[in-house]
Amino acid sequence: MTELVINGKPVQARADQTVLEVALASGFYVPTFCWHPQLSTAGNCRMCLVEVEGRGLDIACNMPVSAGMHVLTDSEDVKAHRKAMLQFITLNHPVDCGICDKAGECRLQDYHYTYNGERSKSGDPKLRSHKLVNLSDRILLDNERCILCLRCTRFTHEISKSMALGVERRGDASAICAAADRSLALDPYSDNLIDLCPVGALQSREFLYKARVWYLQPTASICPGCARGCTVQIWHRKADWQLKALDARQNSCIVRVTPLENPAVNGPWICNKGRDLARIFERRRAEQAMLKGTPVALDAAVDAARALIQGARHPAALISNWASNEELAAFKRHLGGRFTARVKRDCEPQPGEPLQDDLLIRADKNPNTAGAQALFGDGPPTLPAATDLVLIWGEGCDFAALPHGAPVIYLNSYLQPENGHADVFLPLSVQTERRGHYTNFAGTVSEFQPCFRKSDSVADAEALFEALALPAAVSA
Ligand code: SF4
Ligand code: SF4
Repeated sequence: MTELVINGKPVQARADQTVLEVALASGFYVPTFCWHPQLSTAGNCRMCLVEVEGRGLDIACNMPVSAGMHVLTDSEDVKAHRKAMLQFITLNHPVDCGICDKAGECRLQDYHYTYNGERSKSGDPKLRSHKLVNLSDRILLDNERCILCLRCTRFTHEISKSMALGVERRGDASAICAAADRSLALDPYSDNLIDLCPVGALQSREFLYKARVWYLQPTASICPGCARGCTVQIWHRKADWQLKALDARQNSCIVRVTPLENPAVNGPWICNKGRDLARIFERRRAEQAMLKGTPVALDAAVDAARALIQGARHPAALISNWASNEELAAFKRHLGGRFTARVKRDCEPQPGEPLQDDLLIRADKNPNTAGAQALFGDGPPTLPAATDLVLIWGEGCDFAALPHGAPVIYLNSYLQPENGHADVFLPLSVQTERRGHYTNFAGTVSEFQPCFRKSDSVADAEALFEALALPAAVSA
C-alpha cells in the first residue's frame, strides 16, 4: 500500500490507483463529467483537477498515486480553475434547463451552482448546432447541450461494442454523431447512454417531457426480463404529487426504469428490455375471479378451488418461474404434499429479441428459474398420465396439451383467453404490488419492493396457498 495525504488527512492507496479513485473512496468530493469508473480515462473535461504540493494543478483522473504526495481537492486555486472551466463549457451551451429532462439530475447544473454561479462572460452569440437528432427510435441527441465528454462514444466502443457513435469535425465544430455504417437501434444496451450523459444531450423518447424528476421517486426492484435479474429502480409519482387532473392509472404507473447499481449482478448497466418494464407490468390486468368464465367474488373462487383440490386423487401443478422465492416456499409449505409439481417456463424468447451475450443478457427469459428449480426440481414440465386436477400458475402453458378431462385451476395476472376456459380462475398480484426475492442464474438472491397497491379483487399468492390448504369445514 502507498500512503498519501489528501486535504491534510493521511490515506492508504493501492499503487495502481489514481488520485481521483482514492479521493472518492476516501469521501472527498471531486466533480467529474467525463470520468466513469467503468470506462477508459478520457481526461477531457478538466473538472477533476486538484492541486498537488510542488506540482501545481492537474487532473486527478489520470494521476497515479505516489508515496507522500500532498493533494488539495478544494483549494482556492482549484475552485478558481473549476469556475473557469464551467465558463468555458457553458460558452455555447443553451442553458435551457427549464425544458430539459435532465434538470434535477444534471451535473452541469449542479457544478455551475457549486463553482460558478455567474452568467456567461462572453458577449458573442452562442454557436448553434443540431437539435432533436434522431439516433434511434429510443434516443434523441441535442448537440447544443453536448459538452463533448465522450462518455457515450466510449460506452459504445468499450461496453456495448456497437461502435454506433463517433465525433465529427474538429475544434469548436466538433459534434457527436451516429457512425455512418452502424446503427444505435441495433444496440440492446443503448439506453444506458441516457444515464451516462452527464447533461441533457441524450434524451429518452419514452420519457421525453413526461415528468420532472423531482415529482418522482424510485422503488428498488428486479427486472424479470431474463435470468440475469438485474436490479433496477422503478420510478413513479411521489404520493404528494398524485394529481387530481390525472386518472388513477396515470398517477400510479411506471414513468421510467433505471439501473440500480449492483456489482454482484449487473454493475451499473441494464439492457433496453429492462427499461421497458411498463410493457410487461402494465399489460391489461385480470382483476376478476371466474368459474368457467362466469365472474364471481374472489372468496367464492377460492372455495371452489379448495373443493377441487380436496376432491382430487392425483392433483398436479405447473409452477411459475416468475414467482418469488417467498411465494414458491408458500406453495411448497401449504400444498407441496398434495401436488405433483413441475416447473414450467412462463416466457420464451420473442422473435428478434437478443438471445444471449457476454455482457448481461441471458437466454432464459424468466427471473426465477433457479429459485423454482431449487424447490421443485429441474425435470421437464410434463404431467403424470393419472393427473385428475391441474393447477397452472402463471403464463406459458399450452392448455391443449393438458391431461384430457382434468379440471383446471388457473392463477394468472393478465387478461388472456385461457382465463375464461379454466374451471376456476384466480387473478394474482404482480411484482410491482408486492415484496419478494428472486434467485438469478448464478445463485445471487436480490430483493424487489412494492411500488403500487394491489386491487382487493386480486389475490396475493402467499395468502392464497395458505387458504387453499385449509380444510373445507374451516373454510365454510
Ligand atoms: S452526448 Fe452526452 S455523453 Fe455524449 S459526449 Fe455529449 S455530453 Fe458526453
Ligand atoms: S439483462 Fe435481463 S434482467 Fe437485465 S435488464 Fe436485460 S432483460 Fe432485464
